[in-house]
Amino acid sequence: MAESKKEKVSELQYIKGVGPVRAAALAKDGILTQQDLLNYFPRNYIDRDAISSFKALSVKLRQEDLFETKSVPKDFSLRNEIITIGQITDSQEKHFGKNRKMLKLTIADGSGGFANIIFWSYTEYYMKTYPVGEMVAISGRAELDIVGRITFNHPEIEKFHPEDEKLYREGRILPVYPMTQAMKSGKWNMRVLRQVVYSAIENQLSLIKENLSELILNKFKLINRTDAFRQLHFPDNIDIVGKAKYRMKFEEVFFFELFLAIRQKKSKVTEPGILMNPKSPRARRLYESLPFSLTSDQKKVIREITDDMKSGSHMNRLLQGDVGSGKTIVALLTMLDVIDNGYQVAIMAPTEILAEQHYHTFTDYMSDFNIKIVQLIGGQKTKARNQILDDIKSGKANIIVGTHAMFESTVAYKNLGLVVIDEQHRFGVAQRSQLKKLGEDSHTVSRVPHILVMSATPIPRTLSMTLYGDLDVSIIREMPLNRKPINTKVVFESQLPEIYDFIKKDISKGHQAFIVFPLVEKSEKLELKSAVEHFDMLKNNIFPELKCGLLHGQMLWYEKEDTMKAFLNKQYDILIATTVIEVGIDIPNATVMLINNAERFGLSTLHQLRGRVGRSSLQSYCFLATKDNYRFEMKRKDVQEEERKAAIIRLKTMEETTDGFNISEVDLKLRGPGDVLGTRQSGLPAFKFLDLVRDGDIITEARREAFSIIEDDPHLRKPQNEILRNEFIKLYKDGKHFFDIA
Ligand code: ADP
Ligand code: MG
Repeated sequence: MAESKKEKVSELQYIKGVGPVRAAALAKDGILTQQDLLNYFPRNYIDRDAISSFKALSVKLRQEDLFETKSVPKDFSLRNEIITIGQITDSQEKHFGKNRKMLKLTIADGSGGFANIIFWSYTEYYMKTYPVGEMVAISGRAELDIVGRITFNHPEIEKFHPEDEKLYREGRILPVYPMTQAMKSGKWNMRVLRQVVYSAIENQLSLIKENLSELILNKFKLINRTDAFRQLHFPDNIDIVGKAKYRMKFEEVFFFELFLAIRQKKSKVTEPGILMNPKSPRARRLYESLPFSLTSDQKKVIREITDDMKSGSHMNRLLQGDVGSGKTIVALLTMLDVIDNGYQVAIMAPTEILAEQHYHTFTDYMSDFNIKIVQLIGGQKTKARNQILDDIKSGKANIIVGTHAMFESTVAYKNLGLVVIDEQHRFGVAQRSQLKKLGEDSHTVSRVPHILVMSATPIPRTLSMTLYGDLDVSIIREMPLNRKPINTKVVFESQLPEIYDFIKKDISKGHQAFIVFPLVEKSEKLELKSAVEHFDMLKNNIFPELKCGLLHGQMLWYEKEDTMKAFLNKQYDILIATTVIEVGIDIPNATVMLINNAERFGLSTLHQLRGRVGRSSLQSYCFLATKDNYRFEMKRKDVQEEERKAAIIRLKTMEETTDGFNISEVDLKLRGPGDVLGTRQSGLPAFKFLDLVRDGDIITEARREAFSIIEDDPHLRKPQNEILRNEFIKLYKDGKHFFDIA
């Protein structure tokens, strides 16, 4: 391995203009071959036609002002990169105190407009490298300073070489490649990189092979792969860059959809489901004894599920519904159905607390249903655990509620008919199939249990199709009728006394409250200390006459359980907690949620936390407490720092909407789908070109095409699909074996 790496480094080393130092720098970024260089795409382009004058730019910046509009605009972007060209007209170094220095370069664009470039570090280097008179290309985020002048803070700056300038004046478009730290310290600059990539293109372009069929290229008017590569690196014009990107996006998502289509096809064909008779006496009994009537969405979803299960095919369904939409009861009715058909069922939750809660909810609902419910979680005593394992194995246990502990190989199920996975976004695809496997083994003849996964992470439709493409999706959109929207307000720390009074008043009506603190410290000991300190302070100084409970991540599961139970039974008025209560906890009588240091939480966590209240007909409130200096920042029109800007967008979004779909859309834009959904976890490949949020149309087209091809030719055996088959096997290395398409 090390051997071959060395060899490969030398491959680039001997290219004109590279040499050992530069080759080593590229190797650090994983670029070892000319092919790797071809796959190192520009981040942006210098295009004479697209560059606006500084005057026009400053008008645009003023218009873009994020906080002028009332709500968060649909297409805002925190990193609007601007590329521009200018000549340095002034260079000034300023000293602050003993050793703080700043370099300010002024550049002119030739149309009478100026911009400033500020550097806070390496000032000497920049001053020497970019003297007055030099032509430079700048790329970075532009802002207006106090006097309204365009300012770039630490942008990427590149000398505009006479050759580049010539190309530029001729109207050529110049690629701007991402420059990593390793490259910068390894003697690379943009011009050399461009030249080296250019020669790689000359040498290697013929090796780039088409991977889409003629049919698809024509149908979707895609440019061929070779052209796409060439145009992405050295475009003829900016329109064709768009076409090249479109082609690459299509390709990326198409093969992924093909993968999903094959997987779905396979699971549909080869996995006959366990046939269920939907007339379950105990499900009917529970349904009739519920203290509320189901919403029509809940009913619709139950119908979709029973239709699946009585069809004889195998159910693989995602139930998506915002926090508090009532997914649990849907799962429970389904579970009873399966139990009445003589099968065991399992439901898996991401946390012990949540597993506990399900256990108790089910026990309460069905105390005299003659149903045995057992729990499988970590940290149970050996003796008790062995008893539980026996009950599972013998089939005595009808419902198994648990956490990851349910995967362990010591667990032998008996005729598992249904697996429910709650808060699915917390689990990976691998875990899902692992549980499925255990289910299969629980039958004497291998049979696959039905699978119902539930998620509150409301994600845009195109995205959910891509992510869960092999699942059928049921959505609960409407909330139970009795709900009132939660009143949400950002408050500042100095206002906390008022909030405490508010809490006292609300509790005097018989309601309960949550007070949440972030996990301030990484260390477990410190976390515990901080939770305990807050607890003592609130209990002794603020709410001496009220009963306060404490819940944090370092407690043992049965301690957590006791605390939650006590809170549910109103033995506490206030539950002071860390984010352990984030997922799923259901305390209908709780009406106030106070989140401290709310600026530190991500949007989905804030939404989940807020979802702990407003779960009954009572009016609920959510206070997002943040630092006092945010009071000013939130009104400001030009928050500079990215972190803070994002935090303010999160807080404002929470104030503006309770709709999980809106919230997740903003979240996706702030963080990107990889972070929101955990790319690795979700089983989603890392797309280079495709933007999961914005490219919904392409995803839909590619998906439709992929699925119809597999419908027509499940094994890709037809001659016109040979090219797809080859590429597919290359991309999904075990695809040939696993998906049995040979
Ligand atoms: P989630 O979808 O977040 O898992 P739950 O299933 O925990 O939500 O339901 C939240 C609360 O709403 C529970 O207390 C549940 O009993 C209640 N609930 C569920 N369905 C209805 C309904 N149709 N009408 C009124 N309350 C309901
Ligand atoms: Mg739930």
